[in-house]
Amino acid sequence: MQRTLRKPAQTTQVHLCSLEATAQDALSRTVHPAVEEDPVTLCAISSISSTLVTKIKNTWQFDQKLSSIIHAEEQDPLSHPHYAWEQGILKRKGKIVVGAEVAIRDKLLQYFNSSTTGGHFGVHATYQGISAIIHWKGLHSAVRQFIKTCHTCQINKYEIMAYPGLLQPLPILEAF
Ligand SMILES: [Zn+2]
Repeated sequence: MQRTLRKPAQTTQVHLCSLEATAQDALSRTVHPAVEEDPVTLCAISSISSTLVTKIKNTWQFDQKLSSIIHAEEQDPLSHPHYAWEQGILKRKGKIVVGAEVAIRDKLLQYFNSSTTGGHFGVHATYQGISAIIHWKGLHSAVRQFIKTCHTCQINKYEIMAYPGLLQPLPILEAF
């Protein structure tokens, strides 16, 4: 991964492509290069399919707080210091804001927890992945709740606990 910047230098493209870099950084430890037909494919955030972007946008319309933030940002970009309205995308501290809509939030949680992206590694890994790109208030507890209900994560947890021998010793650095 050559790109270490969390945001691209050019602000003109911040929009969806910044998500690519962020998403790849966040996921590079676990993600497989090909993310099949899942619409949330992040770089492809241009391919986080337009359908998904549209669905996320819809969540803003039905969220009173978010739609008033958008309105204020349109009038004055400095109205909410942590928020930005960039090329039709509402972001908070660089993360795409997702309004209160259970279905779409669930879909995102599923994606970031799935075997191809999150690897079903439980709360921490899933939160790391999703919070690099997505923001909503209460995201962390949503992840915790979600993981509790994920059968695969629960099984993985017990397997990890049952086989502590799988942990690898740290390499010893030799002094030259
Ligand atoms: Zn899981």
